[in-house]
Amino acid sequence: MIIECKSIAKEIRERAKEEAGGKKLWLHNIVVGNDDASLVYARSNLKLLRKLGFDGKIHHLQDASERDVLSLIEDLNGERDVHGIMVNFPLPKEISEMNVRSAISPVKDVDGISPVNYGKLLLGEEVLVPNTPRAVIRILEKITELRGKDVLIINRTPVVGKPLALMLLNRDATPTIAHSKTKNLKEKARNADIVVVAVGRPGFLKEDMVKEDAIVIDVGINVVNGKIVGDADFDALKDKAHITPVPGGVGTVTNACLVENLVKAAKLQGAI
Ligand code: NAP
Repeated sequence: MIIECKSIAKEIRERAKEEAGGKKLWLHNIVVGNDDASLVYARSNLKLLRKLGFDGKIHHLQDASERDVLSLIEDLNGERDVHGIMVNFPLPKEISEMNVRSAISPVKDVDGISPVNYGKLLLGEEVLVPNTPRAVIRILEKITELRGKDVLIINRTPVVGKPLALMLLNRDATPTIAHSKTKNLKEKARNADIVVVAVGRPGFLKEDMVKEDAIVIDVGINVVNGKIVGDADFDALKDKAHITPVPGGVGTVTNACLVENLVKAAKLQGAI
């Protein structure tokens, strides 16, 4: 059974547009160095924003020092017409990720990566939270009751697994986080009501790792022979479980959640 995600994304985008009340909001995206995937992602976000009547700017800094990045963030923090700031990771290794995260004004932090917004999430308050785990929650809330559910998350990164576990706890689910050193992964996955996989390996989650009628949320994005695929063996799992497709699944909802966060940020700034 395929979980239809495009309509969930559409609903989030349309509500966000409505809440902006016609105000043109601006997202500023910082790409440092020459990571092609970051540039592609930034351009696709810009396209989506323009379609919805918002706008944005990509700051592509090549050969930038940490000081350059921090001073650009400081300038953007101070500008009234900048409603959201996003920094694409990975950063070149001479630039401290922590310093960059800390520099972003928490009310403009549309990717939910600043220590302040992470800290609030840890304390149970979801203000601006990372978009991918937020998208997973939006999909799950649409199709199931989370209270009391056993959820296995195969990923422990700050982008997906850790914030997702906190959001699930906020909703009375019981999350377990697995990673590359986890023992008996198959058994853990087979016992879960919901499996969220974000490993970055095509075909990682196999049919025999999931119980009948479980929910599988596939966060993975991999390119195989020029085609985008997830981390789950989709063809085998779609008859046994409820599963999100790739593409047209979590990624689509994640993009919509970014727009939602831009509107939330603008509200926090008193801009709308
Ligand atoms: P990452 O930093 O490489 O993390 C991968 C995670 O998977 C790590 O926690 C790793 O464990 C774990 N892992 C690796 N091999 C494993 C194994 N054999 N058994 C169990 N766990 C294992 O990747 P990421 O940035 O979090 O992204 C993961 C995937 O999600 C990628 O395909 C990425 O493209 C995709 N993604 C999608 C979206 C979206 O919006 N759809 C957003 C972000 C990422 P360790 O911590 O022990 O290394």
